Amino acid sequence: MAKVLCVLYDDPEDGYPTTYARDDLPVIDHYPGGQTTPTPKAIDFTPGHLLGSVSGELGLRSFLESQGHTLVVTSSKEGDDSVLDRELPDAEVVISQPFWPAYLTAERIAKAPNLKLAITAGIGSDHVDLDAAIAHGITVAEVTYCNSISVAEHVVMMTLSLVRNYLPSYQVVLDGGWNIAHCVSRSYDLEGMHVGTVAAGRIGLAVLRRLAPFDVKLHYTDRHRLPESIERDLNLTFHPDAADMVPHCDVVTINAPLHPETEGLFGDKLIGQMKRGAYLINTARAKIADRDAVDRALRSGQLAGYAGDVWYPQPAPADHPWRTMPHHGMTPHISGSSLSAQARYAAGTREILESWLDGTPIRDEYLIVDGGGLAGTGAHSYSTRS
Ligand code: NDP
Repeated sequence: MAKVLCVLYDDPEDGYPTTYARDDLPVIDHYPGGQTTPTPKAIDFTPGHLLGSVSGELGLRSFLESQGHTLVVTSSKEGDDSVLDRELPDAEVVISQPFWPAYLTAERIAKAPNLKLAITAGIGSDHVDLDAAIAHGITVAEVTYCNSISVAEHVVMMTLSLVRNYLPSYQVVLDGGWNIAHCVSRSYDLEGMHVGTVAAGRIGLAVLRRLAPFDVKLHYTDRHRLPESIERDLNLTFHPDAADMVPHCDVVTINAPLHPETEGLFGDKLIGQMKRGAYLINTARAKIADRDAVDRALRSGQLAGYAGDVWYPQPAPADHPWRTMPHHGMTPHISGSSLSAQARYAAGTREILESWLDGTPIRDEYLIVDGGGLAGTGAHSYSTRS
């Protein structure tokens, strides 16, 4: 029987919800491009309920316990005395979310001889040391596409919010003020601006599609070029790399995974090559941008704004400079954890577990590492150190 260790974020401070703002979710059975949304044999949760926090348990308890497996759910993941570290040595499966990542470092993996499967209930498995997972024969899987559109919506929201100076203007209302000039002296229209994405995968392409109706000029860079028909339809300009793209852009959005090729990409040098007063939106992974270089660029005016929801480490410490730097629109890591997304990634986690426990193949598009190497989506979109 398997022991499944599930690391989730804490419940709300005022307790697990008993009511919700809305009664239902739209039914979505296919993603753009045709991939089906998760297809577990059954679910034991109500879509639209809070599933990603400790009491939500991703809706997995009765499914696992009815088959004799053990489920341990915790938010305790830091320090040697964490529940994660105490329970890891005999766990066969670890489930974690990028929002509250259980960092599966090489050291932790070395202390987990029974670990065979690491599931990301979401997208982005950079919290797992993939080289160590490969070396130990661990399978790494994520619920590809489950929250890509959720994030794309967040990127659009943050782009408009920065360019139009929404958050400071909202603050004026909260403060009881009415100084129009204060609000509009940093407010612009997005129309006509050049917007570029670093990576045009599921999120990046969805951002391009959503921004096209704003009559902006769209740019992208990616390791693989998009089909010509898409480039034509969206009037896209392709650039061989980020350094070639950013000098042309008023807004840059980062939508690549964090892996050795992208770590630290947006440092002083690349940010210095951006247009003065450009906006940078990063909902991909914090470490793709250099923390202090972003802070410096906002203070000098090289960047007019920075927004995103990804930090390092997570949770971010109270004194993290991105909490207090000027002209930012940061949120905690929430873009991919809307209640809508949670219903999909809980169902996808269950689908992966069903396959694992039944001994049937996990969908290829969910695989990042398998059989001692990068596999599936991992083979297409990630790199390793070795
Ligand atoms: P996809 O796998 O669909 O897209 C990733 C894209 O990045 C691929 O097109 C890939 O290229 C491209 N890419 C990889 N390396 C580079 C590089 N060095 N330069 C340019 N492009 C590169 O994933 P998604 O779009 O669904 O998600 C992207 C990332 O967003 C995730 O890995 C995750 O880190 C983050 N994310 C954040 C969330 C949040 O809540 N904030 C939620 C979900 C995801 P190719 O495949 O052509 O090689």
